[in-house]
Amino acid sequence: MIGGGPAGLSFARSLADTELEILVVERSSLDQLAEPAQDGREIALTHRSTEILKNLGVWSRIPPDEISPIRKAEVLDGDSSYSLSFDRSSLTVDALGYLISNHLIRKALCEEVETAANIELLTGVTVTNLSTNPSGAAVVLSNGETVEASLVVAADSRFSDARRKMGIPASMHDFSRVAVVCRMKHDLPHDGTAFECFHYERTLAVLPMSGQRSSIVITAPTHAAAEIMGMSEQTFNIDVQQRFRNRFGQMILEGKRYAYPLVAVYADRFVATRFALVGDAAVGMHPVTAHGFNLGLRGQATLASEIKTALTLGKDIAGASVLNNYQSKHQRVTRPLYLATNAIVGLFTNDAPPIKLVRKLVLRLGNSFPPVKRMVTQGLAETDTQWSLFRSLLPRPH
Ligand SMILES: Cc1cc2nc3c(=O)[nH]c(=O)nc-3n(C[C@H](O)[C@H](O)[C@H](O)COP(=O)(O)OP(=O)(O)OC[C@H]3O[C@@H](n4cnc5c(N)ncnc54)[C@H](O)[C@@H]3O)c2cc1C
Repeated sequence: MIGGGPAGLSFARSLADTELEILVVERSSLDQLAEPAQDGREIALTHRSTEILKNLGVWSRIPPDEISPIRKAEVLDGDSSYSLSFDRSSLTVDALGYLISNHLIRKALCEEVETAANIELLTGVTVTNLSTNPSGAAVVLSNGETVEASLVVAADSRFSDARRKMGIPASMHDFSRVAVVCRMKHDLPHDGTAFECFHYERTLAVLPMSGQRSSIVITAPTHAAAEIMGMSEQTFNIDVQQRFRNRFGQMILEGKRYAYPLVAVYADRFVATRFALVGDAAVGMHPVTAHGFNLGLRGQATLASEIKTALTLGKDIAGASVLNNYQSKHQRVTRPLYLATNAIVGLFTNDAPPIKLVRKLVLRLGNSFPPVKRMVTQGLAETDTQWSLFRSLLPRPH
């Protein structure tokens, strides 16, 4: 396994109950893995992801007061106060999804992996060379060691070096925008509501955290993001408060602001001879639809399940059917969402007058057709099979 981020550790943990010996090679130190620093990312998890994390023993390691339910979502466009809203009334669950800090997910995954007898964490090391052939794989490490393996799985980020080393091309879409993320506390309660405000020139997401605090995600053109990062705390507080139309009263920055350049990535193939990509290395999403880690979790679970089936049948864990099944299942799930997310970003970051009109129309149509709204809600929460119906309305993979 190359990369001990959230996707890589989830995948390793998914195979903890097999007879396989798993080596996780991670560039960061063991301290950084075991006690990850806050990185400003608050991850919105669907019910499917919650189930996966529960099955992996990770959910119970996250302090309950750090799990924030998202009960309602409101989408606002431009200067209008009209909103497209989704709530859990069409669902049988208590929330649309849950918000958890990325560093807490990573910490819990690391704790879980450290308890597994068949998983070894090799930290502070990178891969200098990688080669595979039909009978095996060899991974040369920066510490001079060479590791032989039956299968190499890479989850080494959207800019995956392993993907390049294996000669797998990827489509990359640089949005020329940056996401500035931080936490803010505020005077008024959020009542579990997540807001996505597609203002002109920049977008503002305000996501409910425990207490009277929210996670703030501002996406802006790169030049404006530099200005946002450089603002004094006081100016920043007033700026966000005003852009959010004082809905929560006074807002105050808690901790640091973090900036992430927005680049979406889709690998041309997810597999090669004795090799597979999972997590962002396979599909790196724009964060606006909060699918990235949800898809990473789902993909690793798909690959782990194919491997377990092969083990039960006494077959090669890196056989063509294992890898091809994983690839086709994961492409079917991810391709439509990837294309739809990029289309949404395109629509809601284009301020040309005719597009502004389309944006308003989309929101009103969404509110006026209860079946569509119900399907989107179930899709957001990943609770129901109707999601596959919603997916079938989206562009097909090619
Ligand atoms: C602002 C923001 C908000 C987000 N919000 C959400 C959300 O609400 N919901 C959601 O589902 N997703 C969200 N995401 C996406 C989510 O954070 C990613 O999908 C997730 O972190 C991907 O995990 P990963 O393990 O694939 O990759 P990464 O997190 O990038 O981890 C890769 C790991 O590989 C290691 N590595 C890299 N290169 C090497 C090498 N050569 N050798 C060894 N190790 C290596 C790195 O050190 C790292 O530990 C958000 C992302 C951002 C930026």
